[in-house]
Amino acid sequence: MTGEDRKDSDTRGAYSIEKTDRLYPDYLPEQEARLGILHAGKRLYDRGYVVANDGNISCLTAPGQIWATPTGVSKGFMTEEMLIKSDLEGHILEGTWAPSTELMMHMRVYKENPGARAAIHAHSPVATAFACAGIPLDLPILAEAVAMQGHVPLAPFALPGTPAVAESIAPFCLAYTGVLLANHGVLTWGASLSEALYRMERVEYYAHLLMLTGVLPQPAKLISPENIAKLRG
Ligand SMILES: [Zn+2]
Repeated sequence: MTGEDRKDSDTRGAYSIEKTDRLYPDYLPEQEARLGILHAGKRLYDRGYVVANDGNISCLTAPGQIWATPTGVSKGFMTEEMLIKSDLEGHILEGTWAPSTELMMHMRVYKENPGARAAIHAHSPVATAFACAGIPLDLPILAEAVAMQGHVPLAPFALPGTPAVAESIAPFCLAYTGVLLANHGVLTWGASLSEALYRMERVEYYAHLLMLTGVLPQPAKLISPENIAKLRG
């Protein structure tokens, strides 16, 4: 399938499923949230959705209070004492490990979507290939994806670890279930950790099917020289 063919689709992008009128879900008890984050991290790592110390996971356990993964550790081998508790302004309330700079992105999800209780960021390879090629997941080819996932839009490139990432995803947090981050990865959210995790799995599976049906390969959009310089610090 070519880029021109894709423009002929009448229905792509027309099937967002996030319900904004549902009752807001309960907050997860803190202990359950901590164990759930460890479980989700292991599952992401075991499935190859994160490598090395990539990715991050958070869970809202009370208004304005999250538990989240720290920076600099493999999400497949975390222990409970590594996790940190923070408010939505980034003030650490509990824990001794350093927070991820990507927590700003998670906090923005909770501010924009009052029904979100968990958020997961990963670099699953096929969905990230779409993010590198600048192609959203918006072709209605798969019944499960249409019913359960909806259109996964593409947020414009923003330097990882900067407030620009939170700005880039903000327009999508209420109406969608996840978003591709251009030249970077994937972010999903949900009413629980398991819903955010299932959505991450569905995004990757949907991307995989799109690839197998001919949407990829496509050339990647290259990161600009200015942003390459900034990434190298
Ligand atoms: Zn990332």
